[in-house]
Amino acid sequence: MPRFFVEQPPQDGVLTLEGESAHHAARVLRLRPGEAVTLCDGRGMDFDCIVESVDRQTVVCRVQNSHPALTEPAQRITLFMALPKGDKMEWIVQKAVELGASEIVPYLSKNCVSRPDRTESKVERWRRIAVEAAKQCGRGVLPFVQPVIPFAQAAARAAQDETALFLYENERQTGLRQALAGGLGDTVSLLVGPEGGFAPEEAEAARRAGLKSVSLGTRILRCETAPIAALAAILYAGGNM
Ligand code: SAH
Repeated sequence: MPRFFVEQPPQDGVLTLEGESAHHAARVLRLRPGEAVTLCDGRGMDFDCIVESVDRQTVVCRVQNSHPALTEPAQRITLFMALPKGDKMEWIVQKAVELGASEIVPYLSKNCVSRPDRTESKVERWRRIAVEAAKQCGRGVLPFVQPVIPFAQAAARAAQDETALFLYENERQTGLRQALAGGLGDTVSLLVGPEGGFAPEEAEAARRAGLKSVSLGTRILRCETAPIAALAAILYAGGNM
């Protein structure tokens, strides 16, 4: 079933595709009146629709039915990711969105090698990558990439989630499996460090903020591998895989 995001809520039972979505629906998929299509508001609600009319600019769809999107994980997962080198963040954003992260918060910590002065254009690019990934994999929520913030803010915000995990390469006691044994909250945050890892004082601050320090095993994973491995494990533990 073709699937598109719409920006406006239904009006008089009708949703209208415009711009690139209309072009894709009309020219590429050649949708015709009477055909079924699913439209999504990007905030978790799907609308089952029937195409009513197609012209050069717009595809008008009549809503038959609406329901929560069937493609969202049961948990709302936020990835707090220390800025990695080069363009690695692009890959991380794409994979995190495919796996089901709802929000991505890039942050700067002590050992971040990458220290761009102007991050706005990078954030814009990551947002476009997130939207493309969400379309490609059929998400019901359009994940948002937040502006880059300092470590202390990231830790404080991550600590607000019901299950707040800090992936720490020097953690020797608690593994992820053990940390999740008591169950998952509805909101989950994951704080991941940069290539250089966390400074000891950051690890201490993360724990003080209320995050649970967890290990992903005895091998050191690259900073782009760690969030993807942890996301997959959390989805599995939450019954989403
Ligand atoms: N340079 C550091 C490793 C950094 S790995 C060192 O040699 O110790 C980058 C980030 O990935 C870490 O900060 C952590 O958030 C995560 N990570 C990698 N391997 C991990 C592991 N085995 N357990 C928990 N977190 C890990």
